[in-house]
Formats: sequence, structure tokens, C-alpha cells
Amino acid sequence: MPETVHVDLPGRAYDVRIGPGLIAQAGAQIAPLLSRPQVSILTDETVAGLHLEALRTGLADAGISAQALALPPGEATKSWGPLEQSVGWLLDQKVERGDIVVAFGGGVIGDLAGFAAAILRRGVRFVQIPTSLLAQVDSSVGGKTGINAAQGKNLIGAFHQPALVLADTAVLGTLTTRDFLAGYGEVVKYGLLGDARFFEWLEGQGPALASGDMAARVEAVRRSVQMKADIVTRDETEQGDRALLNLGHTFGHALEAATGYSDKLLHGEGVAIGCAMAFELSARMGLCSQEDPSRVRAHLKTMGMKTDLADISGDLPNTDALMALMAQDKKVVQGSLRFILTRGIGSAFITSDVPGDLVRGVLQDGLDARQ
Ligand code: NAD
Repeated sequence: MPETVHVDLPGRAYDVRIGPGLIAQAGAQIAPLLSRPQVSILTDETVAGLHLEALRTGLADAGISAQALALPPGEATKSWGPLEQSVGWLLDQKVERGDIVVAFGGGVIGDLAGFAAAILRRGVRFVQIPTSLLAQVDSSVGGKTGINAAQGKNLIGAFHQPALVLADTAVLGTLTTRDFLAGYGEVVKYGLLGDARFFEWLEGQGPALASGDMAARVEAVRRSVQMKADIVTRDETEQGDRALLNLGHTFGHALEAATGYSDKLLHGEGVAIGCAMAFELSARMGLCSQEDPSRVRAHLKTMGMKTDLADISGDLPNTDALMALMAQDKKVVQGSLRFILTRGIGSAFITSDVPGDLVRGVLQDGLDARQ
């Protein structure tokens, strides 16, 4: 039996089912949502090559036929061209208001397909079948969908909750180590922002989880999704608490922009470095102990992850340019930047009250360490 986390949003409630082998049961899981036995799948070429046949079989077992469009993998797919292509394709498939669109892939496909579903015929339902660790613990839950703009990441989009999420933890086995660990950056984020015992558990179980321990993987995904579901239920459209989920993202998004959203720095890697920097900034502001940033870095390093600006290859812009990129972040409210800082592991909070020179100091020291 899969684990289930219920996202209890009034009128838009849905289940997140978590466990190995869910793709084989996809037909039985999705059938109750369908008005006719067919679905349209948006996926990427890598995921399609590895897992689309299994999904088709799982759907066919319940008599559901499927058509699929596979887009190129990578962040560049979260843009206008592929969105237009996807929406056009869905219209060509004659998708109706009562049909289901399936997002089958990592966060890129989930965000793109969710947004395509949100705007198609003024909104059709969609099911997330996340295949990366990042998508299973974060992007598939909570209804944020969208694409990137030339001006910045995720600046075009809509809130559109899925009707169901199926997180098959067995498919994580085909991720590259780098993609797996990038997703693990978001898992660590949950412990750091709101659950010190979860972080402690990860310090103990992280290595087993990374090397394939299925029970540990299911537990890490379940706890992460539960935390995200709780926060999203309290604050669906990010008027308050939901911003806590952006721990590490203000620094992380600036670094992603600085590296051109390229494979020099994956999103989850930017988040992990950003979390270490948010702890560093909090320690310098006297909000948390000096030991906390060291403990965060130590765990990330044990897992073989990037922790500092020095771990990013290639050129990085100077402190002024990084500050300007941070100011472009969509978490800017009335011109002032909101940071997620911390009073210790598991105790994040939101503030706009951050001295600019301390932020500059953290960035400058990080850049100096690259020399
Ligand atoms: P991704 O979708 O690019 O996937 C990473 C890589 O893994 C891709 O090359 C993909 O083809 C491959 N892949 C996926 N599943 C695989 C599998 N099972 N086996 C082998 N390869 C597989 O990126 P991601 O890291 O999953 O997601 C990052 C995106 O998610 C970013 O665009 C970010 O902005 C977004 N995001 C959105 C939210 C949200 O709330 N909507 C939250 C966090 C992140």
C-alpha cells in the first residue's frame, strides 16, 4: 500500500500517493478521475525513454489509452516556445474540459504541463507523476505552475492544483547521482526550515537514502510532502507562511541566474548553497549560533553536495551584480527584499529587516574563497 498525504484545500483537495511501483498502478489510480478512458501525457525525452512504456502499460491495464508529447529535457523547456507547442498539441489531441493532462517528469515538466493545463480551455485538471526527487518532494505539490521569462525564473504562471499526485519512488533509481542530490537539497531544506528532528534523521539516514534504501526514500518523500502540504494548506497563494519554503532560494535564484540557468548549477544545488548562505547570514546577524551554518555545510558535504560559491565552476559576477540579481527576485515586496532567515535548525522565519552590508559580506567572502 502506498503512503498517502492529503492536501486539504477546500474545493481543491487531493491526495499525494507515495511508494515504489505506483506507475504500474497508474490506470487504477487515475481511472476514478476520468470522464472517458484516455489521457494526454506531457513528458521529456529522457523520462519517456526510460519510463513511458511502463506508464502506458499501467494505464492500459485499466483500459486507459494515452497519447504523449516528449519535449527536450532541461530548464530551457520551461519557456514560451515549448508552452505554445504543448498547448497546441493538447488542442490537436482534442482534450476536453473533463479530460486529464498527465505531467510525467521532473519539475520542469510538472511546472510547464501544469501551466498548460491551467490555461487550456480556461483550465483542465491534471495529474502529476513526478519522476525526479525534487519534483516528488516539492514541485508536484502545492499548485505553483509556470515558465521562466527573460527577466527571471518562474515569473509567468498560475496557481493550479493537481487532481492527484503519484510519486513512484522506484523511478528515482534511474536519476543521475547529481540530479538525485539536487533534489536532496530540497529535502534538507524542509528539515532546516521547520523540523530539526527531520534534519537529525537525515544526518543519520541521508547516506543510506542516497544509495537506494527504499524505505528511507519513501519516508523522506512522505515527511517532505507532509510539511509542504501543511504549509500550502495554511497559505495556498503565499501571503505569509508559504514563503518559508523559499529558504535558500533568494541566494539560490540569484546564483542560478548568474550561471545562466545552465548545468553549471542545478536548481536544487542553488538551493543547498543558498541554505548554507542563509544560515551564514543568520549567524552573522546573531540570530542563530555560529555552529549552525557549520553543521548544515557538514551534512551537505557528507552527502557530496555543493555548499559554497567556491563549488560553482566557471565565472561568477561580482558582489554588486549578485545583489542586483537578488533584487530581481519575485520575493521583492514594495522594493524591499524578503529573506528567509533562521533562529536555528528547524526555526526559519520571514523578514525584510536585513542589513544590505551583511548580505554583501556573505557574498563577498564567498567570492573571495574562490580565488
Ligand atoms: P528537471 O525536470 O529538469 O529534471 C532534472 C533532470 O532529471 C532532467 O534531465 C530530467 O530529464 C531527468 N529526470 C527526471 N526524472 C528522471 C528519472 N526518473 N530518471 C532519469 N532522469 C530523470 O528538473 P527538476 O530538478 O526535477 O526540477 C527543477 C524545476 O522545478 C525548476 O524549474 C524549478 O523552478 C522547479 N520547481 C518548481 C516548484 C514548484 O513549486 N512548482 C518547486 C521547486 C522547483
